Amino acid sequence: MIDINQKNKIKLKDKKVIVIGLGMSGTEAAKLASHLGAKVYASDIGTDKKTHYNAMSLMQNHHIPVETGIHSERIYDADLWIISPGIPKDSKIILKAQSKNIPIVGEIEFASWFTKAKIIAITGSNGKTTTSNLLYEMVRNHKKNTIIAGNMGIPFSERVLNELKKPKNNIIYILEISSFQMEFIKHFSPSIVIYTNITPDHLDRHKSMEEYINMKMMAVKNLKPDGFIVYNSDDSRLSQSISGFSKQLKPYSIIKNDTLFFIKKNLIFGPSKKLVIAKEDLSLSGKHNLYNFLAAATTSVLMKIPINHIIKAMKEFNGVEHRLEYVNQINGVEFINDSKATNINSVIVAIEAFQKPIVLILGGYNKGANFRLLLPHIKSNNVKSIISYGDAGEHINTVLGDAVRSVLVSDLNSAVKRALSEATPGDIVLLSPGCASYDQFENFEERGNFFKECIKKVELPC
Ligand code: ADP
Repeated sequence: MIDINQKNKIKLKDKKVIVIGLGMSGTEAAKLASHLGAKVYASDIGTDKKTHYNAMSLMQNHHIPVETGIHSERIYDADLWIISPGIPKDSKIILKAQSKNIPIVGEIEFASWFTKAKIIAITGSNGKTTTSNLLYEMVRNHKKNTIIAGNMGIPFSERVLNELKKPKNNIIYILEISSFQMEFIKHFSPSIVIYTNITPDHLDRHKSMEEYINMKMMAVKNLKPDGFIVYNSDDSRLSQSISGFSKQLKPYSIIKNDTLFFIKKNLIFGPSKKLVIAKEDLSLSGKHNLYNFLAAATTSVLMKIPINHIIKAMKEFNGVEHRLEYVNQINGVEFINDSKATNINSVIVAIEAFQKPIVLILGGYNKGANFRLLLPHIKSNNVKSIISYGDAGEHINTVLGDAVRSVLVSDLNSAVKRALSEATPGDIVLLSPGCASYDQFENFEERGNFFKECIKKVELPC
């Protein structure tokens, strides 16, 4: 077994490292472990195209043996396990490995052993990708070796392997991490952790809110002694969860004025109470994005980024694809792709971001969310009709059907067609599904792209 208690003494050479799960992060962790001299074996129960593609690439290009469609007994002949975020920590294989005293870590923890670079971690229920990208925009021109990685699509292991191959000084990682990636954290030690918010999400996996919050708190378990926790202090659940860290807290808020940045009327003020920017000059609209701007700006100040870099990003940042992304306008109807909205809170912020009447498309794979929570927001905002579809469609239609005109269809294709016939000039057709995508799509990107394709073909209905 590898003794993982002392980070500096961990040696992988000739050790049997088993990678469980061949998604992007598992695949990249396998390459990193192999580069460090471990005897890697990767195993994934899946048989889908992507798993096979990743398995083939590991075997052919890196000579790493792999099994798919099965977890054989070979996986228990191990000195270390690296598990992918998709594997629940109470799954049978994990319990069995634990009973054999095999040390188990997640991919983020594993990659963090091999870099001394500064890590800024971004986590929370919503806004992680937007805040990470925004922060990157603010920082990158002043600190040239800033690298973005993590949950948004470039695994940390891939970045760390690049660093080992081409070392550079003063690297800073801006690292987006989900709660799943924080299971099995041991030494992971960021300099700054940003918490965007905490709302009920992924309760199908985490079982209770308490467990979900505990998992999120793993990010600050080994926070550097001179580090900071940047957090949304308007979120009472979040404020309560981190109240124990008093000295290192750096709150941001859109209602209070004892924070580094504060808002008065329509103006945003910053350090030394200097005017920074008018709200209307921010490049992204919506209250949720205001929070994301404040999170990134507060962190940038702590990183000693000059204010002009911060202001430039506040004015010019273009947003991230599939997050309230403007697609097109046809016959006076605007189309917005918010495919990334996979929970109820994201749907609420989406409908609050618009003043115009909304034809809202909801549906997909339901993660156990309570759609009843949407009721007050639907009534107090401009949602004129709801088109629901997919696995969760019937549930949504039943729960919301009395509050607003509501139509149930089978799939997203039909939902787009129906939304087109419901909308009149001046309306917005908003895909903000409030559900995961994997009843009909590989991921939210594929769902968003499909939606955009449908709109492109609007004259030739898809
Ligand atoms: P994440 O990476 O956490 O999933 P994203 O930045 O990708 O978050 O945004 C996903 C969706 O979440 C957005 O389309 C928006 O509807 C919502 N959202 C973004 N930022 C926030 C925020 N700070 N608070 C609440 N909801 C947000």
